Amino acid sequence: MVTVIPALLIATLQQPTSLTIGSATARPGQATSGFIEVPAGVDTATRIPITIVRGAQSGPTLALIAGTHGSEVAPIIALQRVRTMIDPAALRGTVLIVHVANMPSFLGRTIYYSPIDRKNLNRVYPGKPDGTVSERIAYAITNQIIERADYLVDLHAGDGNESLRPYSYWSPLGLNARADSIAREMALAFGSDHIVVDTARPRDVRASVYTQNTAQLRGKPAITTETGYLGIPAEDMVQRNVDGVFRLLRYLRMVPGDVELVRNPLFFDRTEVLRSPATGVWHAKVERGQSVQKGALVGILTDFFGATQAEIRAPFGGIVLYIVATPAMSQGEPLGMIGEPRLER
Ligand SMILES: [Zn+2]
Repeated sequence: MVTVIPALLIATLQQPTSLTIGSATARPGQATSGFIEVPAGVDTATRIPITIVRGAQSGPTLALIAGTHGSEVAPIIALQRVRTMIDPAALRGTVLIVHVANMPSFLGRTIYYSPIDRKNLNRVYPGKPDGTVSERIAYAITNQIIERADYLVDLHAGDGNESLRPYSYWSPLGLNARADSIAREMALAFGSDHIVVDTARPRDVRASVYTQNTAQLRGKPAITTETGYLGIPAEDMVQRNVDGVFRLLRYLRMVPGDVELVRNPLFFDRTEVLRSPATGVWHAKVERGQSVQKGALVGILTDFFGATQAEIRAPFGGIVLYIVATPAMSQGEPLGMIGEPRLER
């Protein structure tokens, strides 16, 4: 028996309707860039530069978000390269690139917080349409990017003050076994061999707080990567981000090539962000990636004249995942993060 497929149906299968996000519209086999406009509300307007890369063949949608923190720049530079390196003709599925999520922080050169509303974009998800600018950015990304994605990577780096060795966050929530296990493999595919396991992320989809967690709570496997340091696009860190994206595209079978997972990862269930007991001048005494024993001197906090206020010591033995390497320090701010490695998970 021969099944006859009407010509109109064939045309529909071969030429699905175009995809429009913000001012960008892409048909299959096309890459297009544009902006998601975030209108003014209680404070100023902003815009989010995006690229849609639509493969000639249908497949999953991977969202790549850079610049959630505006001074974490290695991923921003990397995604500019990724935009030109992905060939839509050879791609299966769609890649949604958010080039700079947090434009106020990027152009304002701020760490952690928006210069407009003083909020941390990675603490306000899923956002609000009538909130302050960080909340409106989160709302736009949740509804226009995350809702359209099947998989998500939020690409961070050490912020402008953070000397960081590459690692990734895997956050199994125990709500969706498929999303948890695929996210674990995504972390291994991206390529960093240091993986922080964070099981304490919120489980309320209305208060998902983090970009990654917003996707994960919607059943979409997601990771947060940390690749780069100190507000500069160091070439090796830019390249690691580019490589990580293409390793992920191969893992998701969106581009051809061998799948490569990290062979001997270190998992960190126990991590601690050390915080400053006072305001003053920070003198770091360790390097990113350094191993420390319990009680080792991590740094010294002095007053503004140089007198020691506090000696900061490692609370347990482990690896310095990042250390704040610039002197300005306010009470309660992070000094660094130490993780205790474990081989298997
Ligand atoms: Zn960040």
